[in-house]
Amino acid sequence: MNCFECDEIGQSVAAVAVCTVCGAGVCATHVRTETMQIREPAHPGKVMHNRSARRLTCPTCRAAEQAV
Ligand SMILES: [Zn+2]
Ligand SMILES: [Zn+2]
Repeated sequence: MNCFECDEIGQSVAAVAVCTVCGAGVCATHVRTETMQIREPAHPGKVMHNRSARRLTCPTCRAAEQAV
């Protein structure tokens, strides 16, 4: 798969990731990496712990999310 963003400007660059929002392939230049803490709901008698999750998005989806 090639990077969707690069393809739009007429370039062929191999994608290194896939946008979790729109599913477009993105290259190392265009990928937006985000680490988010997933806070699991606390259950009685269970230890609550935070997990780190990685989220990869394309510039378009990242910009759309930040605009909100
Ligand atoms: Zn690209
Ligand atoms: Zn996207």
